[in-house]
Amino acid sequence: MPPVRVEPSARSREIKYAVRDIVLLANQAKERGKELLYLNIGDPLEYDFETPPHLIEAVERAMRNQRNGYSPSSGTAEALEAIRGLAERRGFREVQEVFVTSGGSEAIELALAALVDPGDNVLVPCPGYPLYTAVLPKLSAEARPYFLDEERDWQPDLADLEAKIDHRTRGLVLINPNNPTGAVYTREVLLEILELARRYRLVVFADEIYDLLVYGKERKHVSIATLCDDVVVVTFNGLSKSYLAPGWRIGWGIISGDRVAAAEYAEAVLKFTRARLCASHPMQAAIRPALEGDQSHLEKVRNKLYWRRNLTVQMLNSIDGIHCVLPQAAFYAFPTIELGIDDEAFVHRLIMTSGVVVVPGSGFGQRPGSHHFRVVFLPEEHILQRAFERLAEVAATFRG
Ligand code: PLP
Repeated sequence: MPPVRVEPSARSREIKYAVRDIVLLANQAKERGKELLYLNIGDPLEYDFETPPHLIEAVERAMRNQRNGYSPSSGTAEALEAIRGLAERRGFREVQEVFVTSGGSEAIELALAALVDPGDNVLVPCPGYPLYTAVLPKLSAEARPYFLDEERDWQPDLADLEAKIDHRTRGLVLINPNNPTGAVYTREVLLEILELARRYRLVVFADEIYDLLVYGKERKHVSIATLCDDVVVVTFNGLSKSYLAPGWRIGWGIISGDRVAAAEYAEAVLKFTRARLCASHPMQAAIRPALEGDQSHLEKVRNKLYWRRNLTVQMLNSIDGIHCVLPQAAFYAFPTIELGIDDEAFVHRLIMTSGVVVVPGSGFGQRPGSHHFRVVFLPEEHILQRAFERLAEVAATFRG
């Protein structure tokens, strides 16, 4: 009997994750003997960054002390206290609930699952980190893109955001600082977003996983949860980026805002945390030392990345047909390409002929007719320099 093909679900067909999908193409280039320069991975541990030792010691100690059973579903008391304490020190208003998860990713998934029903929609930034567009279809809900405005340093286009709201819109996602653009939103923009959330009764999902990786003095990061005590805000963060431990899969969500408005929703989120038992118990032991202990690694990380960002923007902007807005935070730049070809064709030729691996802008969403790619500026300067020299050569082949 011939094998019966297992038919995957219709919703699985909608799932794309360009950041990892591009690796297949990179592997083909490698097989053809290309030396690969990876500018596609948002993982500092792939480059010259190391997890702070006091966090490793805390996890090791927890394992030796047999913190190896399940923890309470929303997190250990120590971790929850540390997260709540930090939120209060930062001026979050009306913290209602805190929950610890397997990476910020799981917090995002649980918070969305507790809100939307099939047919509802949530506004997501375009361009934006593609997790939201992967999770919402799993919930039979729509990820409805609103544009970020490249002409205005990639701040949200508020007119577009409002125009996209309808009677099935339940929430809006704000990635601040943003992946892939590196933008940090102004207080004025955040206040206007809150006004829209109030008017249309939307939950604000504030993804602030890069909040401590802001460079220079151009702009200060403001958490939207510090600006209001009425709108329900779920703020996401974790140990993956600022604390250099993405493989530990530790993140969290903080639900803030009006107590009565948030109560039932917060309980629904907690129900989801119970259904999946808990996040990794020993890894949660790193949360308190991360948030309350030695922070000296942060200054070193920011300093390295400040120079790498400057080099990236300067080299990209010196190439004809490429223009790059200065990222103020995170470790990504999202340059535009005006070379008469689309981003997929550009990235394909770049990888296959030069081995420089970047991600096409379409993996994050972009305004129709515009073309971009995302570069990660985590590598050391000499690698970035080589990569951008090769990139300039490839860009020249399209012009000439
Ligand atoms: N949110 C944004 C904006 C990200 O860039 C990432 C990872 O790159 C995540 C969330 C997921 O983070 P975590 O490793 O905590 O799941």
